[in-house]
Amino acid sequence: MSEQPITLEELEQLELFASADVRALEPVVRSCPVHTLSPGEVLIERGTHAGRVFLLLSGSLGVHLEAPDGEAITTLEAGATVGEISMIDREPASAFVVAATAARVVAMDEDLLWIVTDSSHAVASNLLRTLARRLRGGNRIIQRSRGELEHYRFVASVDALTGLFNRHWLDKMLGRQMERSRADETPLSLLVIDVDHFKPFNDRHGHVAGDHALRAVADGLRGALRPTDMIARYGGEEFVVLLPGASIDNARDVAERLRAAVAATAISGLRGEHLPGVTASIGVTELGALSAEADAEAFLDAADKAVYRAKGAGRDRVCL
Ligand code: GH3
Ligand code: MG
Ligand code: MG
Repeated sequence: MSEQPITLEELEQLELFASADVRALEPVVRSCPVHTLSPGEVLIERGTHAGRVFLLLSGSLGVHLEAPDGEAITTLEAGATVGEISMIDREPASAFVVAATAARVVAMDEDLLWIVTDSSHAVASNLLRTLARRLRGGNRIIQRSRGELEHYRFVASVDALTGLFNRHWLDKMLGRQMERSRADETPLSLLVIDVDHFKPFNDRHGHVAGDHALRAVADGLRGALRPTDMIARYGGEEFVVLLPGASIDNARDVAERLRAAVAATAISGLRGEHLPGVTASIGVTELGALSAEADAEAFLDAADKAVYRAKGAGRDRVCL
């Protein structure tokens, strides 16, 4: 720390003194100590209350939430006011403030600044403006982290291979749709789709070609559904479709359309070569056919049993 005198230019660029009578304020500020910081030097420790507000004369300061050497959430440039929130709410600092470059700051005692604020309308309104800006900055940070949260929630719900929703998503959605269907007394149907003889397909053409096939089947299924229908990849070569509002007869028609779509799906191998197509067996259930206490597991289980029957009856077919 050293005490180089403050220049008039430095005073005039301070946000806190914008539109204020700088010459009248000059003697007050000159009575305050000036600190010179080297890069990395901590000006404010989180959790402490310095009792002073700092005015940044030159250089820049980083604001760090987690640790003084962590990532800065924002950077303050020459002219900025630092520590005014603690001055007003008398709470300890909520972040670390660290010199990002060599910097010079004036340390103004809080009591002195209160006196200045009382006597200068311009300083008081500048202080309010600084606070408003901090508030907006805080909201932006909250919005950003909420956006990231949404993103991760989305990633956690989607199957990486096919881009369909995954089992985790379906398990949540299934319970919700069952509740809604029962409350509104509207039908809800569920299909379980299992690709036939997929193990031999993998054995013959390799696992990567198998992945191609699953992606093609997923695209074929998605293309044959309406936007309000919901489809998820439930496991390896198993897909589940939820049809809100669909009776068992509607659901059987949809299942037949999906079965035909899978059988018609073209599958290409690693080098784009044409591979033999696959078929699927589909089990269909309507919630209304189960007891009023049946849970999501029982609903899926009923459709699974229908798939099992479709397999037994020769595959590539729909069973209720
Ligand atoms: P079924 O007609 O009775 O359904 O016979 P299946 O061979 O389809 O049934 P099984 O359950 O015996 O085998 C499923 C196979 O699906 C096993 C596995 O090799 C394959 N499989 C599961 N997940 C994936 C995946 O993500 N990629 C690939 N390539 N294959 C997968
Ligand atoms: Mg299976
Ligand atoms: Mg199978």
